[in-house]
Amino acid sequence: MADKSGKLIIFSAPSGAGKTTLVRHLLAQEGLDLAFSISATSRAPRGEEVNGKDYYFLSDADFSKRVLKGDFIEWEEVYAGTKYGTLRSEVERIWQEGKAVIFDIDVVGGLNLKSLYGDKALAIFVMPPSEDELARRLRGRNTDSEDKIRQRLAKARKEIGRSDRFDHILINRDLDLAKKEAESLLKVFLGK
Ligand code: 5GP
Repeated sequence: MADKSGKLIIFSAPSGAGKTTLVRHLLAQEGLDLAFSISATSRAPRGEEVNGKDYYFLSDADFSKRVLKGDFIEWEEVYAGTKYGTLRSEVERIWQEGKAVIFDIDVVGGLNLKSLYGDKALAIFVMPPSEDELARRLRGRNTDSEDKIRQRLAKARKEIGRSDRFDHILINRDLDLAKKEAESLLKVFLGK
């Protein structure tokens, strides 16, 4: 049987900082033996999203039932009316495969996981180079209204205020450099 890894890599960041791109890059590095923790959410799929790949999409009622059953390690209402959570079964499945679990999770959820798992977890905060640059990236996506962008920037300010509670702050000024830095951090943590 494969060794149980028991390790977790947590990536949190304000929306637009580039964490999803970094997590995808790390997952593509075979030597790191990582697997993505697929979260459950009560929101509907967007665009090309696939159930069981991007998220487990649950109805609000099913999400609440699973909360009561104790199926989640952590869960949160990240946006008003929309819940997201990490399933215990997901993390256990990945550890059984001998892999480390990697999370793309919001700042509060990331810090909750870090306090639950301590030294077994490496918590990385992806920092945008500046607020102006973050605003530019959010506007460049062309997916949100100006009002939504302002809300995301206000949330980002709060999240940046919590960044010192992470094990590492990775400044994403240049994406290629940020990818290399993330790889090095993980290699050291995972002993690869
Ligand atoms: P989106 O709806 O854009 O996919 O994600 C919204 C936010 O929810 C992101 O910040 C994402 O990192 C966060 N998120 C995704 N999965 C989880 C989870 O399992 N738990 C928590 N606390 N946040 C999550």
